[in-house]
Amino acid sequence: MYGLSEEDLQIQARARGFADELIPFEDEAERADGELPPDVTAAHAKRARELGLHSTNMPAELGGGGCTSLQQVLVQEQMGRVTNALGWVAATPPSWLPAVATPDQIDRYVRPAIAGEREECYAITEEGAGSDVDAIAATARRDGDGNYLLNGVKWHVTSYNSADFAFFQARLDGGPHHGEHAMFLVDLPSPGVRVVRTPAYSHTISHHHPIVAFEDVRVPAANLVGAEGDGMAFAYEWFRFERLMVAARCLGAAGRLVDEMTAFAAARVVGGQPISEYGLVAGMLADSLTELFAARALVYETARGIDHGADVKVSHAQCSMAKLYSSEMAGRVADRAVQVFGGRGYMRENVAERFFRELRVERIWEGTSEIQRMIIARQMTKRTPARLA
Ligand SMILES: Cc1cc2nc3c(=O)[nH]c(=O)nc-3n(C[C@H](O)[C@H](O)[C@H](O)COP(=O)(O)OP(=O)(O)OC[C@H]3O[C@@H](n4cnc5c(N)ncnc54)[C@H](O)[C@@H]3O)c2cc1C
Repeated sequence: MYGLSEEDLQIQARARGFADELIPFEDEAERADGELPPDVTAAHAKRARELGLHSTNMPAELGGGGCTSLQQVLVQEQMGRVTNALGWVAATPPSWLPAVATPDQIDRYVRPAIAGEREECYAITEEGAGSDVDAIAATARRDGDGNYLLNGVKWHVTSYNSADFAFFQARLDGGPHHGEHAMFLVDLPSPGVRVVRTPAYSHTISHHHPIVAFEDVRVPAANLVGAEGDGMAFAYEWFRFERLMVAARCLGAAGRLVDEMTAFAAARVVGGQPISEYGLVAGMLADSLTELFAARALVYETARGIDHGADVKVSHAQCSMAKLYSSEMAGRVADRAVQVFGGRGYMRENVAERFFRELRVERIWEGTSEIQRMIIARQMTKRTPARLA
């Protein structure tokens, strides 16, 4: 099905097997605020690397997997079958970075990230700037010694508690590019970087999303990514990739839920017959699989387009469509799965309950559903719908 090559099927099977190894740890993680013992997490990360599931998106010449976009989707889809973010050990370091990084940055950040020795986090969103990234107030100012002084308060900095460097996006204060954006690499910890607070979120995962203040943080000019004024371009490229991977993980989540709720509905006898034989329940099962099939076809086709060199604007719109449809589909499937499981579906030990909470953010981060719709509609009027789908 889906015209996958032998190589595609092999990496998909490896990822599926690894996801099946992680699933038994979900309940323990759920009961411990998402945390597993550090040696267990380290073993999972090691296994992901051994299986070639880590850095699938990074160039082979730098030690990455060098996988096609479709293969990256196949791997992330399987990781999406696991709750509590346990599949995040199959990490995807910033694939946009090698093309713009200096040789020094490749050595200090890219290679170690690919080897699993360093981990990044993104400090872009602010209290007054989420959907509208251009509204950021953080600043970067050159001091007399050729360093930059960074200031700003960033929100929702995912994985700050495990990361050892951050991408910090700021508006340039002074100089020829005054007012434009720039992106910086900030080593963690660094003087002047502090956690303001760590709010609790709906999901139960070990990766925190603190509010982080950057106060007169001094970074060398060597930590500027690309050139002054380039900042927004990097964010857009990353959004394209991440939106496709969000879509892929939503496929996996929905697939797991479809499997689990189908098995439950076939086995659960109420009123003398399996609940799957009641039309109202059968309808929930059938709608879920039908929508999953549609989403998978959309996501795989979008990935194939990228692999075949599709126009970047077309891919941008298609990645938005993939994320929009898959995240909304997975949300509907999770809601139905809770319903099919009945009271059991409301228990935190049940996969449907966990996904019901966890999947909600897929419609918010990496651009909300409303923003995806705006992007798609804008491309429709610029390029005609026929070029996009
Ligand atoms: C768990 C989590 C982790 C995150 N991790 C990170 C991270 O690691 N790094 C990082 O930088 N950010 C991160 N974010 C931030 C995330 O990307 C933003 O929350 C998201 O982009 C939305 O921005 P906002 O929350 O400011 O909402 P707002 O932009 O304030 O939007 C509020 C509402 O208005 C709607 N809206 C806004 N603009 C429009 C428009 N033009 N048209 C129609 N509707 C509109 C939105 O769709 C939404 O419904 C994370 C968020 C969460 C919840």
